[in-house]
Amino acid sequence: MNKKHKNPLIWFNIITIFPEMFQAISNYGIVSQAIKKKIINITCLNLRDFSQNKHRSIDDRPYGGGAGMLISFKPLYLAIQYAKSILKNDATIIYLSPQGKKFKQKDIEKLINKKKIIFICGRYDGIDQRIIDSQVHEEWSIGNYILTGGELAAMVMIDAISRLVPGVIKTEQSIQKDSFSNHLLDYPSYTRPKIVHNMSVPKVLLSGNHKNIYLWRLQQSLINTWIKRPDILKDKKLNIQEQILLNNFKKHQKKNNS
Ligand code: SAM
Repeated sequence: MNKKHKNPLIWFNIITIFPEMFQAISNYGIVSQAIKKKIINITCLNLRDFSQNKHRSIDDRPYGGGAGMLISFKPLYLAIQYAKSILKNDATIIYLSPQGKKFKQKDIEKLINKKKIIFICGRYDGIDQRIIDSQVHEEWSIGNYILTGGELAAMVMIDAISRLVPGVIKTEQSIQKDSFSNHLLDYPSYTRPKIVHNMSVPKVLLSGNHKNIYLWRLQQSLINTWIKRPDILKDKKLNIQEQILLNNFKKHQKKNNS
């Protein structure tokens, strides 16, 4: 897709105290190409620009005491209002938070449809609860662990969302075979040379027989998922062909073990 888009299909605006971090995603790889083609847009607001004092500080001590600082209401509120105004007021406001809904591949489609997303990146011990109560539409987490800030979480989400925006990745097929699409993990892949360190490429892939290659790959995806992520396979309704392929492997394995 070489066509340049007049308007981006999705616009991410990030509120952060470290806007430079987003060069890691904006300046490299597929996402940077999509920005150049104007398919997606990534803009950052430096939260310190909305500070209310000459030291440009944006944090304060929590009421009730305790360790750590919090991002204060006022600068974050002002940054959000500014972000809303440049995104013409119809953006979804997302706070990256370990307390949010866990981000999964299946959530991406819905997020793409939002078209304009404002990400709030927390730091320190988080943000004033009144921002969450009055401004935030959704809270998202990238996993059950605590990061030092929301920036990496925002970049993970932006990267995963962007590659499914139409036109960002050229071959639809490579997206369809990716792990998690269709409740299956990807199959093993090989490239030249045919033999390396005494390890050869499975013969079927050199056979030129497309039906056999398709069946081998499907079986490998099923085996991979069954072995590595049985939790994903539980959500998949296997068709007859898939059941046969997986059962053949299980029988073969049983025989080898006995
Ligand atoms: N005290 C907060 C809590 O326990 O919920 C954690 C604060 S954390 C040290 C600082 C910031 O990192 C958060 O405000 C959030 O923006 C971000 N963050 C940390 N872990 C995250 C995760 N798993 N997913 C998304 N954002 C995360």
